[in-house]
Amino acid sequence: ANSLINRPILASIHTQAFRHNLNRVRELAPESKIWSVIKARAYGHCFDAALKGLSSTDGFALLDIQDAVWLREHGWEGRVLLLEGLFHENELELAQELSCDLVVHCEAQVEWLEKYIEQGHKPFSIFLKMNTGMNRLGFKPEAYRTAFHRLHAFGCRMHHMTHFANADQADQRPTVGEQQEVFERTIDGLSGPTSLANSAAILWHRNALGGWIRPGIMLYGASPTGIYADIEHAHLKAVMQLQSEIIDIQELKAGDGVGYGGRYQAPEAMRIGIVACGYADGYPRTAKDGTPVWVSIGAEDGNGIVCPIVGRVSMDMLTIDLRNAPQAKIGSVVELWGDRIPVDEVARMSDTIGYELLCAVAPRVPVAIK
Ligand code: PLP
Repeated sequence: ANSLINRPILASIHTQAFRHNLNRVRELAPESKIWSVIKARAYGHCFDAALKGLSSTDGFALLDIQDAVWLREHGWEGRVLLLEGLFHENELELAQELSCDLVVHCEAQVEWLEKYIEQGHKPFSIFLKMNTGMNRLGFKPEAYRTAFHRLHAFGCRMHHMTHFANADQADQRPTVGEQQEVFERTIDGLSGPTSLANSAAILWHRNALGGWIRPGIMLYGASPTGIYADIEHAHLKAVMQLQSEIIDIQELKAGDGVGYGGRYQAPEAMRIGIVACGYADGYPRTAKDGTPVWVSIGAEDGNGIVCPIVGRVSMDMLTIDLRNAPQAKIGSVVELWGDRIPVDEVARMSDTIGYELLCAVAPRVPVAIK
């Protein structure tokens, strides 16, 4: 559906913004191939939209083999990387049928592969993951070379991969430089391309990219740091616009409370707008008073006023202060985040990051791919 039907909430996904952001990534890292990271339903943007908007990527990186099935069924013939490799040995056959590249991060996965190839199956293309200080997935440097030689001996096409813990924060350890140093020392003399950088490294550590980069959040036009200015400086565009409408208006007297717990109390007589969007749609319940929304006030698209949220967000609704928008009425369109209201700003006012808000957009919210 392209218009608001029934309950007036909609997530519009702008494929042109996807294309723009992917081009920006290419400008920043012209020497690297791109794994577009589309885990978690493309960070909540839906796979159809990502496939359409990011079709000029070199490959898609995701988590769940069922999502790789979806990509193949929808015509994607390029590369697909399973970012955490296989969760179970019995997925090997399907992964091969789908021509997936695999991340291999632990001993058990090496054993599954050896056994499988010994049975006469073809070797895989592997991104062998090194734990250089993030301490999540990957081989410690002292075990890495052994794993490499084992898979290499079985004919696998080998790549070297690591993931940065602090590419978005200069003063946190391990630093990008420290992780990179461990990585390079460990792969010294081994053949194969490398893959290091997430969005933050692509934006701020361009000496730490590698042959294959792995941008996620920047493709969606949100910031790895949660600071919207970063996105503006990098000339990235919001891909998702979450919008709804004012479905009722209340006139308050001075001292009236709003919503559950009466968190907000009207300081004077005022109008508030009731917007059809709540935490069951993925809007954060933790949003504080003052979190901005944009209210359309004219027939012309683009004419609007920023208004603050007042009172606690409830399951299906939130409430906004309309004192600055006397023209607002029932049916006025409200942007919760998008071009005008950065998702990073809503996240900052809710003590979280844009990643979490985008991924949490609920399945009940209709999506329009534009
Ligand atoms: N590479 C790996 C291994 C990841 O797990 C992720 C996401 O968490 C990314 C790349 C993309 O990160 P970002 O969205 O910060 O660019």
